[in-house]
Amino acid sequence: MSESQCHRHFGMISLEKVQEEFSSWSELGATGLRRTVPRMLILSMFQEKAHLHLTAEDVFRRFLNENRNIGLSTVYRVLHLLVQAKLLTCQKFENSPTIFELNEGDDHDHLICVQCGTVGEFCDQKIEIRRIEIAKEKGFVLRNHTLTLYGHCASCQASAGRLKRFG
Ligand SMILES: [Zn+2]
Ligand SMILES: [Zn+2]
Repeated sequence: MSESQCHRHFGMISLEKVQEEFSSWSELGATGLRRTVPRMLILSMFQEKAHLHLTAEDVFRRFLNENRNIGLSTVYRVLHLLVQAKLLTCQKFENSPTIFELNEGDDHDHLICVQCGTVGEFCDQKIEIRRIEIAKEKGFVLRNHTLTLYGHCASCQASAGRLKRFG
């Protein structure tokens, strides 16, 4: 096994190596969470790409593709731990398993494709303002909110169009 292949397998990475390579290492430390390799790998997976929305299964499958040996139950445990530590947030959408994403402290809303399950997100200031106004009108102290639009994403519409044309 070459050295680079070797490093792909987390069991063979030294903790020092991990400490050098991943910024999530210090972030994990700041929460008081003990820094284990699976915790660090999962957090850095979410930090690598903006606006990632992943289920526990998605995370597990990504590790499988990278030949990393992290069990599904570990993935579940670590995801919930990172939510408790407020590094990730999670949300349960209709007909879908819990979806995890990086906690960026923003207040975005979601679009879910009912066909392929793709999760998109958007921020709209007008909606935000109306939300606060409505709460005020109702004498309501706003603590939290969720707004989710369900529908068919552009690529599912495109493939449905193709089917219709050729069907
Ligand atoms: Zn879709
Ligand atoms: Zn989101």
